[in-house]
Amino acid sequence: MNSADTGKETVVAPAVKRRPQFVLDVVRTEQLSPHMVRVVAGGPGLAAFEAKDATDMYVKIHFLQPGVDYAEPVDVFALRETMPREQWPATRTYTVRWLDLAAQELAIDFVIHGDSGLAGPWAAAAAPGDRIIFSGPGGAYRPNPDADWYLLGGDEAALPAIAAALEALPAGAVGYAYLEVDTEADIQPIAAPAGVEVVWLFRRGATPDASALLADAVAGGPWPDGAVDVFVHGEREYMKALRDVLFKQRGLARSQVSLSGYWAYGRTEDYFQAEKKQPIGKIL
Ligand SMILES: Cc1cc2nc3c(=O)[nH]c(=O)nc-3n(C[C@H](O)[C@H](O)[C@H](O)COP(=O)(O)OP(=O)(O)OC[C@H]3O[C@@H](n4cnc5c(N)ncnc54)[C@H](O)[C@@H]3O)c2cc1C
Repeated sequence: MNSADTGKETVVAPAVKRRPQFVLDVVRTEQLSPHMVRVVAGGPGLAAFEAKDATDMYVKIHFLQPGVDYAEPVDVFALRETMPREQWPATRTYTVRWLDLAAQELAIDFVIHGDSGLAGPWAAAAAPGDRIIFSGPGGAYRPNPDADWYLLGGDEAALPAIAAALEALPAGAVGYAYLEVDTEADIQPIAAPAGVEVVWLFRRGATPDASALLADAVAGGPWPDGAVDVFVHGEREYMKALRDVLFKQRGLARSQVSLSGYWAYGRTEDYFQAEKKQPIGKIL
């Protein structure tokens, strides 16, 4: 399935930066919480994976469309040269939660958000032996070692990248991590330095676009002196609200802040990506 399915006009798969492609098998899965599943994939193909020096390292997963004949072995970039765009595999973007090149394994934590979409339902049903095709990696953020304190925030989609960033902080780091999930049942163990307070926020069934929890927490929360390094990502409208808090209220410089939309409520990723060229899709 390639087109938007949520009442928006049809959008074909966006062009994706050409990066090395990997074909792995699902090795095991783990239910992390009611709304998140970890898929561990592996295989000898991972030997060629060149990790980025980034805690938000991500890959583009390619989903073949049912009913379309793809030449094997599948090469998603080669087939783009010959097949009509409507038949290109759809892509979905996911953080690499951890990578173990010695064990030839990589983990991705997927938000389970119901029956709609490709990646969420795929992960919910994933089983050992299933094939996963992805390209990458991309990624740009690593906590700035010169910062006086750290501010991290996001919803479930950003939780893997935030957890990876927290794990990479020095033991003496201080700061705050605001994590928005649905209820207490969605809390996951997070390894953070003792000086970084992890604050869980609960939307309790409210739709993400109607929640101001993250922006309110940052606007009203503690704000230590000194230079802050910020990593905030998640639903697009949350990020617009946070943008205003960080730049207008707190007066931060652009260079201190890593902020982007990871998805948008009511949009497939194809549609969300296409909207980045329109006013509604622009955050910064
Ligand atoms: C750099 C980057 C890293 C990301 N890392 C992760 C990650 O590690 N784990 C992760 O789960 N997501 C991550 N995301 C977000 C993920 O790419 C999107 O959520 C994507 O739209 C999911 O694809 P899908 O096929 O499941 O749903 P789609 O087909 O894209 O969308 C179908 C419907 O589901 C809704 N939907 C999509 N995502 C969510 C959600 N998180 N919560 C509630 N409703 C949703 C859409 O609004 C739409 O209505 C990342 C995004 C980026 C840009």
